[in-house]
Amino acid sequence: MKINIPDKITLTCPSCDSDLFSIDNNEIATCSTCNLQLHKDELIEQNNIADKLDTTQIAKDLAQEIKKIFKGNGWK
Ligand SMILES: [Zn+2]
Repeated sequence: MKINIPDKITLTCPSCDSDLFSIDNNEIATCSTCNLQLHKDELIEQNNIADKLDTTQIAKDLAQEIKKIFKGNGWK
């Protein structure tokens, strides 16, 4: 079963909208454009990743899969 979740979600700087970051060993992301430093988790939180997932599409895919399963078992 395949659900469309983006492999790679682009994180953008909350300050300047750049997506160029370097992340050090302490998981601190430094924006290459404005030098803003944020912990990686904080950066992810700032980007509202959950909002970026297309839940409508996921629901549609699930409905399709369920239909297929029922058909396979002789359901109508
Ligand atoms: Zn920045």
